[in-house]
Amino acid sequence: MNIQRLDAVRDAARSSHLVPGCRLCGSRLSHTFVDLGMSPPCESFLQAEDVDQMEAYFPLKVLVCETCYLVQLKEYMSPESIFTEYAYFSSFSTSWVAHAKLYCEQVAQRLGLGKDSLAVELASNDGYLLQHFPQLGVPVLGIEPAANVARVAIDKGIPTRVDFFGERLARQLLSEGLAADLIIGNNVLAQVPDLNDFVGGMKILLKPEGTITLEFPHVERLIAENQFDTIYHEHFSYFSLVTIAAMALRHGLRLVDVEELSTHGGSLRVYLAHHDSEQRTSQRVDDLLARERRHGLTNMSTYASFGHKAAMAKRDLLAFLISAKNEGKRICGYGAPGKGNTLLNYCAIGPDFLDFTVDRNPYKHGRFTPGMHIPIRPVAAIDDAKPDYILILPWNLKDEIIRQMSHVAAWGAKFVVPIPFVTVIDPSEL
Ligand SMILES: [Zn+2]
Repeated sequence: MNIQRLDAVRDAARSSHLVPGCRLCGSRLSHTFVDLGMSPPCESFLQAEDVDQMEAYFPLKVLVCETCYLVQLKEYMSPESIFTEYAYFSSFSTSWVAHAKLYCEQVAQRLGLGKDSLAVELASNDGYLLQHFPQLGVPVLGIEPAANVARVAIDKGIPTRVDFFGERLARQLLSEGLAADLIIGNNVLAQVPDLNDFVGGMKILLKPEGTITLEFPHVERLIAENQFDTIYHEHFSYFSLVTIAAMALRHGLRLVDVEELSTHGGSLRVYLAHHDSEQRTSQRVDDLLARERRHGLTNMSTYASFGHKAAMAKRDLLAFLISAKNEGKRICGYGAPGKGNTLLNYCAIGPDFLDFTVDRNPYKHGRFTPGMHIPIRPVAAIDDAKPDYILILPWNLKDEIIRQMSHVAAWGAKFVVPIPFVTVIDPSEL
């Protein structure tokens, strides 16, 4: 990161301290959810020439609102500094693309979408999802602020605007005669600094009987399964259905359905409509709201106990790695996802533990993980090095990864999954 950019980030950090309260309801925030210490932005993978330079670190301290239960980070970084060049290309995950295709087929049928409809995806990335709609005869529009990933979508023939979504852009689209039958926000809500402007924009762009679907990691699962590494600077907010219901109400929208998904360690897909829409509300909404209350998600003591669980997982993982290294074992990582960097930095796991990590995304090859400076190589590097242990950093994809890498059993390698607690998996026993 150059000095100019560092200054810009610092300025944004200073001004963010002026933000008085909860990013959804404005209440004063006084409860800590978990404090993961200082860490660098998790998507700022370093090039070789940056490794000896100063790096920006920001507090990874998470708060929870006692009024709307939104679990949230303060905004220490400006969205422009995060999203103008983004390293995450969704199409590099096979299971993620398959998930997107299935969603498109199901939602087009459920809503009866056709040639006169418009499906708009917010944060449409490289077109991994919208590419499936033209085959179903449904026109699409992508909105993507990161120019480098939007370019990939445009080159595939997917109409995409390079812009930040909010009320301003929604009004502009409306003035161009565009309105949405379906608005899709998959794993974007967490990354929105101004939630109310973003949801307000969806309200403006949505046709009277249109539907919004949002997917996001479920904070209930984050808490139950100790997924503290899914917290990073780029994710400002962590949602329960209780919080989503409060958010919808605030914007003249209402929940009409909810589904539980296995993606990202356990996500929700919610369906929202205008408050006065004719769509019926599914029983599943009330059932899940009731379950969240039973599980303590409207009780501050549930949130207060989370920090101890994270600290315990850190000690267990370090104990395993220290004893493996003392036995002379060689360890490498698999994957260089954002969440890996939270885990690595919080636990201070550097090249003294992991010789290197590998990733399928060529953008990351030859780079180094932020903070801990672990070199990132192509997946084939594992076959050359033949390590004893492979630490799976994107643990939500562990089944897919173990299947793809089962040949490592030939030299006796084992997989290590760090979350919810350290587990060693021997592929020869599967
Ligand atoms: Zn709040």
